[in-house]
Amino acid sequence: MADTPCPLCGSAQKMKRPRVLYGHQVCRRCWSGFITRRQLAWIVDVFFLQFVVGFVLGFIAALMARDGEPPGLILVAAIYGVLFFKDGFAGHSFGKWICGVQVVDRDSGEPAGFGRSFLRNWITAIPFMPLVIALTMNKGPRMGDGMAKTRVIWKRYRDHPVFSPPAAAAKVFE
Ligand SMILES: [Zn+2]
Repeated sequence: MADTPCPLCGSAQKMKRPRVLYGHQVCRRCWSGFITRRQLAWIVDVFFLQFVVGFVLGFIAALMARDGEPPGLILVAAIYGVLFFKDGFAGHSFGKWICGVQVVDRDSGEPAGFGRSFLRNWITAIPFMPLVIALTMNKGPRMGDGMAKTRVIWKRYRDHPVFSPPAAAAKVFE
């Protein structure tokens, strides 16, 4: 297999120790490029949530507290709302949009909406689950993708068999 070029970058030299991504062997560099993008997207999302959304909501909560309303529950609901539905913008969260990755239906390749986003992201509210996910998504699918029937693609390679829907991939190999 070492002589088969990487289906993404076309390099045969980097295929000495290939990694498996969505059932396809790819070179280490492409593999780590994709996984790093996904992890970076998550970090961007968490910072975005904390600093931008947290600031705006915190400001609103402070105003509400001043008026004597208990803001805690609304604040918590809003933060989890953003966390759960963040991938619903045609398969993009802010971080995914920046990092060039997208959540799509694993069969049709259609971008995920807010329902799919919820199905794949509610699990991240469990303590330490984001860390578990980061460490176990090395073959492509992550916990939550099964329930949502989604997968994350590298938009630059969306038409490559590694990331294109199974139906399209089958056509390429025929
Ligand atoms: Zn490659």
